[in-house]
Amino acid sequence: VTDWQGKNVTVAGLGVSGIPAAKVLHGLGAQVTVVNDGDDERARAQAAELQGLGITVRLGDGDSLPEGTELIVTAPGWKPDKPLFRAAEKAGVPVWGDVELAWRLRGHDGRKPAPWLAVTGTNGKTTTVQMLASILKAAGLRTAAVGNIGVSLLDAVLGEETYDVLAVELSSYQLHWAPSLRAHSAAVLNLAPDHLDWHGSMEAYAADKGRIYEGNQVACVYNAADKATEDLVRAADVEEGCRAIGFTLGTPAPSQLGVVDGLLVDRAFVENRQKNAQELAEVADIDPPAPHNIANALAAAALARAFGVPAAAVREGLRAFTPDAHRIAHVADIDGVAYVDDSKATNTHAAQASLASYESIVWIAGGLAKGATFDELVAGAAERLRGVVLIGADRALIREALARHAPEVPVVDLDRTDTGAMLQAVQEAKRLAGAGDTVLLAPACASMDMFANYNQRGDAFAEAVRELGAR
Ligand code: ADP
Repeated sequence: VTDWQGKNVTVAGLGVSGIPAAKVLHGLGAQVTVVNDGDDERARAQAAELQGLGITVRLGDGDSLPEGTELIVTAPGWKPDKPLFRAAEKAGVPVWGDVELAWRLRGHDGRKPAPWLAVTGTNGKTTTVQMLASILKAAGLRTAAVGNIGVSLLDAVLGEETYDVLAVELSSYQLHWAPSLRAHSAAVLNLAPDHLDWHGSMEAYAADKGRIYEGNQVACVYNAADKATEDLVRAADVEEGCRAIGFTLGTPAPSQLGVVDGLLVDRAFVENRQKNAQELAEVADIDPPAPHNIANALAAAALARAFGVPAAAVREGLRAFTPDAHRIAHVADIDGVAYVDDSKATNTHAAQASLASYESIVWIAGGLAKGATFDELVAGAAERLRGVVLIGADRALIREALARHAPEVPVVDLDRTDTGAMLQAVQEAKRLAGAGDTVLLAPACASMDMFANYNQRGDAFAEAVRELGAR
């Protein structure tokens, strides 16, 4: 689409992506109708603002297709089986997500569009994209970490700032709704069951993630320890000359990045033809130097190298990087017990990485399971668990897995989902912990049964720990 004038566009969902999308499309001259399931006070206030601009808003019905719709731009979280999309399919109306919209509007104002280096995966996306942006900046490139973090996609594409290249985080939802996206290079960090209630099956989830490789120009970066990611590269239709580049925590094969004697080593993009490997950085340059985070650094390095960034900038960028809050954040030491906030471990795969980072753990877990099972996680961590405190709506699933795989481990099952439960959880954890132990909040679940988001959950944990320390 190049001519938006008078085009009849339905924006599905008020919210972080819907409101800016509606404004941008309206600004381009489109005839915009926003539809939204909810009709609460917040939605009404947002609707009033948009209506003031001349945008039509329909609250309380996100299911029926407005008359005359030529295109739907949807919030990424809307499920593909919603009646709205079935109606659209029947009527032959295309559906774009926020990423597709941003992708199509690149260069709309006549500026040369910046290439995208894209990252997806079940876990590590935000961290990797931030590491990548840090590396690109160290190379003197104008760039930003874009997506769920930092700059929004529409701002990155249409805003005042001009970029040489973008480090873009993409969720499986966003990829589902982004059929024409073509990245310069892209990485799938790992693939584990998550959001299956949304995608319907593991196959559908993997296929949506795999979309990130479609049409790649230079490199498809995969995790050599996660065969499913390599399979996605094989299945993708890429530009001629685009290479498959693996990353590994072990010694790299040709066309891989890996680790040798505490050094990150590149055997894929070697400038000096006399050598068969290029040293990039030390493992000690990475914060925290936990295995999963070294993997993130290797993926970021691979994408940067695919873009032509020199080794020295990789090192400088990794050194300059500090992780975001609630990702294995050390909160306090009290009576020889460390308290660690990994509230961002919202699925079992992330919790597995964080449980693997400590020896003797009192684990605080639970929340919304999103269709996950916990046997593998619990069985793998059983011998490092000194005790467990369970919170949240789906805690019975974890309790049952513990009974099967770690029957000796003491479990406190807190039958409450109010916000104050976190203070009690931390008190119970303190009771179970001994000197040298780590009390680890790594819920393996989403937070929305008890908190607005994982940030609030992590803050509640940190506050409870401080209260504990003050006594
Ligand atoms: P995302 O943006 O994909 O949610 P984050 O970088 O925010 O990823 O990290 C989310 C959670 O996953 C954190 O709890 C972190 O400890 C864990 N994690 C980060 N990288 C990985 C990885 N490569 N493999 C497994 N878990 C990881």
